[in-house]
Amino acid sequence: MSQECLEAQTVVIGAGVVGLAVARALAQKGHEVIVLESGSHFGEGVSSRNSEVIHAGIYYPENSLKARLCVEGRRQLYEYCERQAVGHRKCGKWIVATSEQQAAKLDDIRQGAARNGVSLEPVSGAELAARCPELTAVSGLWSPETGIVDSHALMLSLLGDLERAGGQLVLRAPVEAVASEQGRHRLTVAGDAPVPLRRKTWLTLQAWGHRGWPGVGKVCPKIRNHASGWLVACTSVIAGGRPSTA
Ligand SMILES: Cc1cc2nc3c(=O)[nH]c(=O)nc-3n(C[C@H](O)[C@H](O)[C@H](O)COP(=O)(O)OP(=O)(O)OC[C@H]3O[C@@H](n4cnc5c(N)ncnc54)[C@H](O)[C@@H]3O)c2cc1C
Repeated sequence: MSQECLEAQTVVIGAGVVGLAVARALAQKGHEVIVLESGSHFGEGVSSRNSEVIHAGIYYPENSLKARLCVEGRRQLYEYCERQAVGHRKCGKWIVATSEQQAAKLDDIRQGAARNGVSLEPVSGAELAARCPELTAVSGLWSPETGIVDSHALMLSLLGDLERAGGQLVLRAPVEAVASEQGRHRLTVAGDAPVPLRRKTWLTLQAWGHRGWPGVGKVCPKIRNHASGWLVACTSVIAGGRPSTA
């Protein structure tokens, strides 16, 4: 094993859209950040295979974290895409009822959305036919805030911000294990050739998409595994395979 040793103040595991956004934010706040990504490119996980919809925040339960973050995140995402020239379009979305039975539920959806601060416009069947002749529906709702985004361009932009702030993406660097030793924690990073990576402070972030890693929580009780799949952990030494830099 090589004696070469890398140090990082903050390590983000996983270069999906969440990992890159978290890493960017930390780097812009002055953290020294390294992103470890098992793949040979950023954004090879679910972030590159999703529907690329900017959700309005219609269906989440009132006062839930998801409801609040979706609405605020959507606002910030549109602003960011505008500022950074990331491809996006606030194209809106139709929610339609194809029967009277379904139509009865539209008002519940509209009221639920309104409680989240999302405004939906009721549309009659005749109006729908005029505005959207391809649709066959008895009535509907128009969501003006829903949109679409080029997720690859978004991740590329986040990576650019990260690197401008001094952060670094390390590819082909799969984190394989986390072990606790005398109150310290060791992450094992596999790769083509071994190199240890030491921490300077106690913070490690990880964004592993929906797979997550339950084993990490056992060695580090401070870790919180969020529904979105990213964790906040404490760490000590990262050792293992030599990662390649992007
Ligand atoms: C079918 C589908 C459609 C969706 N549509 C939308 C949508 O329209 N709009 C929306 O906002 N959201 C949508 N989502 C949700 C959205 O895609 C995810 O919430 C988001 O991409 C998660 O990003 P992430 O960075 O957490 O995960 P990922 O993109 O999965 O990134 C995790 C990264 O971690 C890496 N990794 C994993 N294990 C390790 C390891 N041990 N060491 C190092 N690296 C590792 C992976 O290679 C990957 O690059 C959709 C999800 C699905 C499944």
